[in-house]
Amino acid sequence: MPDLRTFTGGCHCGQVRFECTTDLAMVTACNCSICTKKGLHFTFVAPTSFQLRAGEDALREYLFNRRAIRHQLCSDCGVDVFARGQKPDGTEVVALNVSCIDGIELSKLTMTPIDGRNR
Ligand SMILES: [Zn+2]
Repeated sequence: MPDLRTFTGGCHCGQVRFECTTDLAMVTACNCSICTKKGLHFTFVAPTSFQLRAGEDALREYLFNRRAIRHQLCSDCGVDVFARGQKPDGTEVVALNVSCIDGIELSKLTMTPIDGRNR
């Protein structure tokens, strides 16, 4: 059963803060270049389930490849907090870096392998 909870979190230095409602049912363990190099584990939520509470001005955007995923980094500490993108059907989606959730323990999450390297 989905167990929706509202989490708070942010970047390392604390300038960027968010609130996000998610069940954390699907957390990616992706082998693509950026997820591997940065150790990123994302969960995907609707934009209405994600609120930026602080740090809008501190965000820096990082684009690569087809520029379809717009990574949002804290310009000070460099943490990749979340990304904005679109599903194949065009729906807007927020990819939240679950490592930015306050008190999260990655070892307690169920990860879903994603073969991002080959698609
Ligand atoms: Zn920061």
